[in-house]
Amino acid sequence: MINEVIQRLHRELPATVKLVAVSKFHPFEAIEEAYQAGQRAFGESRPQELLAKVKRLEEVRAERGEPDYMSDIEWHFIGHLQTNKLKMVLPYVSLVQSVDSVRLLEAIDKWGAANGMVINVLLECHIAAEESKQGFSEEELTDLLSSDMHYKNVRICGLMGMATFTEDEALICSDFQRLLDMQQILHDWIGESANVHAGCNELSMGMSDDYPTAVAMGSTIVRIGSMIFGERR
Ligand SMILES: *Cc1c(COP(=O)(O)O)cnc(C)c1O
Repeated sequence: MINEVIQRLHRELPATVKLVAVSKFHPFEAIEEAYQAGQRAFGESRPQELLAKVKRLEEVRAERGEPDYMSDIEWHFIGHLQTNKLKMVLPYVSLVQSVDSVRLLEAIDKWGAANGMVINVLLECHIAAEESKQGFSEEELTDLLSSDMHYKNVRICGLMGMATFTEDEALICSDFQRLLDMQQILHDWIGESANVHAGCNELSMGMSDDYPTAVAMGSTIVRIGSMIFGERR
């Protein structure tokens, strides 16, 4: 089942779109099964759970006596990250997709400097109609870009957004369009400022229910959970 969906998605998605399999609330064995089917990038949204899975992988390697088992797996962090949890997440992930405030961005930069790492991040933008979803508004993004950014230990690779949870296709499209507009603001700024890292082209949008729309509109990363692993428990 997991196997079939992964293979179908790999066939279906354009080569320019990266599939992140969102494995939150599913056991390590489900990740292993997806990995066997050819999936390499996995998304987790809770520091504790990510860390448990990273540790589990280390145990499995020891049990099998294969230090290279699943060594090309790539973890993406997609959930709300508190500044006191950075050390549970940053050493292990290739991309933090959910940087939702300047405060968090600064904390990550500081942690990177202290630990000799440059952390790849996406800025999470608020594009949905729901109040509850977090992220930068267009105004906050503009403020950040026009501030005197001097981050040396974060690399801003693009934007992430979540559309309104609805079946209204037109509303989903207008949410994604808002993210495209914010990407335009980012790109306009790259021309003017040395502070934004080059190659800010990642656009993480699209989940199980809306990824075809997102891909049609130019997404470069889709985050798909329940369609692959079943409903979360
Ligand atoms: C859970 C989650 C997903 C996956 O959602 P599905 O609807 O299960 O595909 C994608 N992105 C984020 C940020 C999530 O928290």
